[in-house]
Amino acid sequence: MIIVMRPEATKKDIDFVVKKLTDYGFKTHLSEGVERTIIGAIGDERTLRDKPLSSLPGVEKVVPILKPYKLVSKDFKKEPTVINIKGVKIGGKHIAVMAGPCSVESRELLFEVAESIYKSGARILRGGAFKPRTSPYSFQGLGEEGLKYLREVADHYGMLVITELLDPRDLDLVAKYADILQIGARNMSNFRLLKEVGKAKIPVMLKRGMCATIKEFLMAAEYIASEGNYDIILCERGIRSFDTETRNILDLAAVPVIKNVSHLPIIVDPSHGTGRRDCILPMAQAAIAAGADGLMIEVHPRPSEALSDGDQSILPENFDVLMRRVRVIAATIEKHLEE
Ligand code: PEP
Ligand code: MN
Repeated sequence: MIIVMRPEATKKDIDFVVKKLTDYGFKTHLSEGVERTIIGAIGDERTLRDKPLSSLPGVEKVVPILKPYKLVSKDFKKEPTVINIKGVKIGGKHIAVMAGPCSVESRELLFEVAESIYKSGARILRGGAFKPRTSPYSFQGLGEEGLKYLREVADHYGMLVITELLDPRDLDLVAKYADILQIGARNMSNFRLLKEVGKAKIPVMLKRGMCATIKEFLMAAEYIASEGNYDIILCERGIRSFDTETRNILDLAAVPVIKNVSHLPIIVDPSHGTGRRDCILPMAQAAIAAGADGLMIEVHPRPSEALSDGDQSILPENFDVLMRRVRVIAATIEKHLEE
């Protein structure tokens, strides 16, 4: 349920409503809009039957949220969420691009990739240090060594770091080096992990599970928000299908569908979404045109030597073309690339 406060409600009024709700056993979440404050209350609504909240000072109305996801829904917060990470914004009119190799393979490779993608305008460096591989015998990532390289290289160019967190036991370690924690498709329904990153004070990018419906995707985001972390970026990365031509079906319609019901920013990953180098540019263009708030792109200077996902990695020069196109498309829909 949400409690909409009057525009003239004072801080004392808001604190009083929050206290009442807490006393009744509710968890509260504040959304401070330009005009008014909205209080999200999660708990057993039956306990409120004989307690008319709408007559408390400063309360304009009490509205039930019918959707199963509440804090991430537009009912709770109308304006799009803009996440500001060290000055790089994602959401609203700001498009942010994350790029880099699938895995952190070596310090040298990371410097080489970062130098070129930075020049092309990317401000967020990606790379897996802990890799979720289908086979236990495939390269599993460099672990903390990889995290150190990501931080060193990103700091050298003034970029942010996004990297995957696979296990709640590594949260403190990964958070020490990363600016954004990536929750991978295989972990979208790892509710314990979602709760742990929800308690952390660091932005999270949640990838859609390969078999997840849009509702399940938003419910996973709700797990994170319900623990108090609202800095959530959603990422559409394709879902499984019967067709083998592409690695996944990149569900671009998920972008407008989610934007209709949620205030969270959503980016698109055409690399994992298609698994094909020749599909990255057209699908990246389409994603931005469809309203995505950003992109995640795998870039490798020698894809045939990549330790993972070489087939879907594009060359730095092709990434440069992609960024030029994105700038043009963004401008036509009154958005801009964060540079
Ligand atoms: C990745 O981005 O490195 C990754 C493993 O992606 P996904 O979780 O979408 O498969
Ligand atoms: Mn990959």
